Amino acid sequence: MSALDTSSLSATIMQQQHQDKSNAKRNGSIASHLANGGQKQYNKAVDDKIDSSVHMEFGGPVGTLAMMIFFPVLMFYFWICLEFHNGHMIYPSLETVTSLPALKEWVYVELIKRVIDHAPLTTYGSTIYLGFIAWSIFCAYVMPGPRTKGLPVPSLGYQQLEYHCNGLSSWYVTLALSAVLHITGVFPLQDIVDNFGPILSCAVLSGYAVTLITYFWTVLFGTPHRMSGKFFYDLFMGAPLNPRIGKLDLKMWAEIRVPWVILFYISLSAVIKQYEMTGHVTAAQAFMLMAHFLYVNACSKGEECIPTTWDIFYEKWGFMLIFWNLAGVPFTYCHATIYLLNWQQNHGYPMTHHTGYTIFVYTLCLVGYYIWDTGNSQKNRFRMELAGTYIPRRTFPQLPWGHIKNPKYIKTEHGAYLLTSGWWGIARKIHYTADLMMALSWGLICGFDSFIPYFYVCFFLVVLVHRVTRDMERCAKKYGKDWERYCKEVPWIFIPFVY
Ligand code: NDP
Repeated sequence: MSALDTSSLSATIMQQQHQDKSNAKRNGSIASHLANGGQKQYNKAVDDKIDSSVHMEFGGPVGTLAMMIFFPVLMFYFWICLEFHNGHMIYPSLETVTSLPALKEWVYVELIKRVIDHAPLTTYGSTIYLGFIAWSIFCAYVMPGPRTKGLPVPSLGYQQLEYHCNGLSSWYVTLALSAVLHITGVFPLQDIVDNFGPILSCAVLSGYAVTLITYFWTVLFGTPHRMSGKFFYDLFMGAPLNPRIGKLDLKMWAEIRVPWVILFYISLSAVIKQYEMTGHVTAAQAFMLMAHFLYVNACSKGEECIPTTWDIFYEKWGFMLIFWNLAGVPFTYCHATIYLLNWQQNHGYPMTHHTGYTIFVYTLCLVGYYIWDTGNSQKNRFRMELAGTYIPRRTFPQLPWGHIKNPKYIKTEHGAYLLTSGWWGIARKIHYTADLMMALSWGLICGFDSFIPYFYVCFFLVVLVHRVTRDMERCAKKYGKDWERYCKEVPWIFIPFVY
């Protein structure tokens, strides 16, 4: 970003902050809005239409079947490249491709045999993964935390489901327990990276198993939602909207409590392993730990905001979310961590960068984090205030501008409100941009020798662009002219003055 862009962006932010303050004077407060009846009117006809219409995405049944096969294969492929080829992508030569026996031999030796030999299901690897899952479920049931209500669910007659937000206490207790297990030698944390292959296999199989069980259980005994009638498509998108076992909301648990915590422990394990090998920790390896700590901590400290996000109120619980949360996110987003560790093992010395470059990458991540944290927080708290579910929390860290008092908004005919203050007055999806800044920094800390650490940011860009398209289509349908008004008022999507 040029100096000119930076200065005009900071001018926009200052203007926005100033506007927020004057809006506070001009508009009624959210409290007065609630006193006047709050958001009680919904356009049921529109919501029913959204809930009953199935618009095939992801290439329909064929595309989703391909993804269900292709994603896990890709995960193993990247692991093989990282583990045995120093992060370089392997492929068969032209000669091999043109001869079927040679190609079969290549696939067996380079891919299948690697998995059989180095990523078999082992008792120890499965105990680590499933033990963590069991512990996480246990914490979700017993740990203390506030309770909050989600957005009104149209298919449940606008009922607001309750969510037990004990993510933060679970996170702190897990940190304390793992420290004890590590220090006492009961479970040395470096065992996670040392058993990466077997843990990965266990996670992948768990992702498939939970997908199938959830789907058949819902179809046979539950309430399938927004179904297309095409088996593979429905398996991918999911059957239930709000799967629960007692008070435990499985979708929210899987989204928050599993992927980011495992990701953090992979990075912690790598840092401990590096320290064990060399007696010190490099800025690059520590960076990954910091980046993953920030993510898991943010999800835990602001968990009460998660019920208002798209995954929780709209997406169903199918392969897309289940597999991605149980296996995809932790074992794909950790590429940079594993790459750095293996790089050191292969070269005999750790990867280091020029100090200026390292500072730049740290800054990129931290600035991205600030925008991401406060952006999500501004919108989610705004929505919670309107729904009367806002709970002020003192969880660490509470960043400045994370909560806008008396914001500016558009009251839609549908009944919902669209925030146009704070980051939401600057760009409509600036929190996606911020997430991408963090993802890019995870790649940059690995230098430029391998594409694999950049896979996450490239993949994530595609995911978020696709998500924006889906979201915009849905919102345009839901809000009609009000959405057009909102888009006129906040014309930029990702980057102000650019796009
Ligand atoms: P959003 O937080 O953008 O939620 C979209 C919904 O918010 C819309 O459908 C609409 O819902 C509502 N909305 C849109 N604009 C406004 C507005 N101006 N005011 C009030 N409500 C509005 O998206 P996500 O839930 O997808 O993302 C949340 C975060 O999670 C993001 O930071 C994203 O980067 C991150 N994420 C990370 C992933 C990862 O793998 N690392 C994957 C996916 C997301 P309604 O119908 O209620 O109006």
